[in-house]
Amino acid sequence: MTDTYRHKGQRKQLAEIVAKKGISNEAVLKAIESIPRHLFIPDTALHKYAYEDKPFPIGSGQTISQPYTVAFQTEVLEIEKRDKVLEIGTGSGYQTAVLLEVGAKVFSIERQRALFDRTKDFLPSIGYNTKLFYGDGYAGLPAYAPFDKIIVTAGAPYIPKDLLAQLKVGGIMVIPVGEDGDQIMKKITKKSEDSFEIEDLGAFRFVPLLKEKAND
Ligand code: SAH
Repeated sequence: MTDTYRHKGQRKQLAEIVAKKGISNEAVLKAIESIPRHLFIPDTALHKYAYEDKPFPIGSGQTISQPYTVAFQTEVLEIEKRDKVLEIGTGSGYQTAVLLEVGAKVFSIERQRALFDRTKDFLPSIGYNTKLFYGDGYAGLPAYAPFDKIIVTAGAPYIPKDLLAQLKVGGIMVIPVGEDGDQIMKKITKKSEDSFEIEDLGAFRFVPLLKEKAND
């Protein structure tokens, strides 16, 4: 699989589309412009569409998120260099790559074995080295907590308590909350060990955050 001038031109346009939709963080836009999104999509027949602002199937019934959504969630996190970020739902690794490009240290969890195995090999193959875990995102990673930022990339029926506990005071979590492909994006700021500010940032559509590890 290769990256061409054509792909580079297409993703420059994608960054412009995402900017027009309201994303202004320069580092985030630069990440969209530099990451070869087509390589994250396993079905090569879809590569010609990879720089449209749309989600695409990545196998195991999952999708690579829409670039605007990835950019939106990343912008909400206000990433500073070397922030420790917990990501729930590694999937294709595209969001992981965006977080790495904007300077975060990323710890990412995926519950589907097949996706975990593929992305664990794929990300280093294009130069992204980070900590990937096969496990249940509802539990987070207590051994590596606390985190400066937490991002959930699947629709959660509720805000998992374990994740709130693993957020640093002053930290930010972004999570789409709601059932059946209809979620409200929430920005949660941890004010003290037991108080949180929650802001609603509008409607989005995600695949569901599932319970238990998958056995495939
Ligand atoms: N960030 C991904 C989006 C993938 S879609 C990308 O850019 O490609 C959401 C992902 O969350 C899927 O890969 C799905 O398998 C995973 N997921 C669902 N429930 C989970 C859970 N409880 N723990 C960890 N990952 C989960």
